[in-house]
Amino acid sequence: MYRLDADQTAILDRVRAVADAALAPNADDVDQRGRFPAEAVRALGEAGLLGLTVPAAFGGLGQGPRVMAAVLDELAQRCASTAMVYLMHVAGVAYYAARPDVAGDALREAAAGRHLSTLAWSEKGSRSHFWVPIGRAVATNGHVTLRADKSWVTSAGIADGYVVSSLAPQSTGPLDSALYYVKKGDPGLAVSGPWVAMGMRGNASAPMTLDGTTIPADRLLSEPGKGMDAMLGIGLPVFAIGNAAVSLGIAEAAVAGTQAHLTGKGFEHLGTTLADLPNLRARLARMRIETDRGRAHLGAVLDAVENPGPTTMLMVLEAKAAASDTALHVTDLAMKACGGAAFSRHLGIERNFRDARAGSVMAPTTDVLHDFIGKALCGMELFA
Ligand SMILES: Cc1cc2nc3c(=O)[nH]c(=O)nc-3n(C[C@H](O)[C@H](O)[C@H](O)COP(=O)(O)OP(=O)(O)OC[C@H]3O[C@@H](n4cnc5c(N)ncnc54)[C@H](O)[C@@H]3O)c2cc1C
Repeated sequence: MYRLDADQTAILDRVRAVADAALAPNADDVDQRGRFPAEAVRALGEAGLLGLTVPAAFGGLGQGPRVMAAVLDELAQRCASTAMVYLMHVAGVAYYAARPDVAGDALREAAAGRHLSTLAWSEKGSRSHFWVPIGRAVATNGHVTLRADKSWVTSAGIADGYVVSSLAPQSTGPLDSALYYVKKGDPGLAVSGPWVAMGMRGNASAPMTLDGTTIPADRLLSEPGKGMDAMLGIGLPVFAIGNAAVSLGIAEAAVAGTQAHLTGKGFEHLGTTLADLPNLRARLARMRIETDRGRAHLGAVLDAVENPGPTTMLMVLEAKAAASDTALHVTDLAMKACGGAAFSRHLGIERNFRDARAGSVMAPTTDVLHDFIGKALCGMELFA
């Protein structure tokens, strides 16, 4: 459904092979133990897939949003935690690619499978309103010092590079921000709490502090004071489309799990399968329709991104909100279609149900997206 050409299809075949070998067999263990999917990330790196969106000049595969979405959909079908780690990596790489003068080394390392990236934006003080950092950068003698309480950072403490938001040194207002490239091992950067969550349990989205983290001033990834433009212009489209693809991958996994259960289990005393019950078949049909409709919508959004027009950004925002809703509804139907077997762990449906909940609370949350889209449709300022 992603309409890939032959080269892109070959990449997706490589992704499926890695996902079948290194994600699917470990997904339940990753979820149950809430452990980081290290073997999956290593396998993705060895297959060159951490360089999926790295420009070819830096050794990467140079792919854009269409292939990224197809890849994330496949990964999420096997292990949503790994898919979310990968999504945050791709989002971080988008900033490196925009400023190769600052992060060219990281691009080369990512292409070689040795660099994992992430975004450190959300803060305790501004919660899901990531476009308003509370921590402020202080400039001194060719360096900046960062202090911030980041509330959730996927791959916290494991990622090699962090795209960190901060109020700019000379900021005069709350939207006057900057983005910096902070490296694992920079002083004062530390994980400050555990990640214990109902879903996406393996993605290590723990809080982190930057406690006087001093870095060279030329690690600036945005224009001075223009962090918000970079957050919305570079990262948000990648994140919104990628998050939509993850949601659709989770929905697809729930469809496949339900299909297998309904056709594979039954009532011995009646000599029938669960699939002989029309209400369960109807639920499966609705799940299939909603997932296909979600993919068709995402396909239209990808078309718009590749041929930009005045409504493209609006469609990008819609993509995340729509696909999150799809995943919530489809996994809810799966729970109902598969009954007590879904309520218990062995089917994996309850993991899909829990993982699906992350999409709508990750910023911009579905509530905020509805507010933004409604404001845009009514000709109102989004950040007034
Ligand atoms: C699995 C996972 C991974 C994450 N990874 C990262 C990461 O790598 N980097 C990062 O920076 N952050 C990350 N986050 C954080 C995420 O992006 C959000 O910032 C976080 O989920 C917000 O939670 P909160 O409780 O602070 O939300 P709150 O802001 O407290 O929101 C609470 C409720 O209020 C609603 N709400 C808030 N503002 C409005 C509004 N203006 N209008 C209407 N309703 C509103 C929200 O929709 C929500 O339902 C991650 C979160 C999760 C769950």
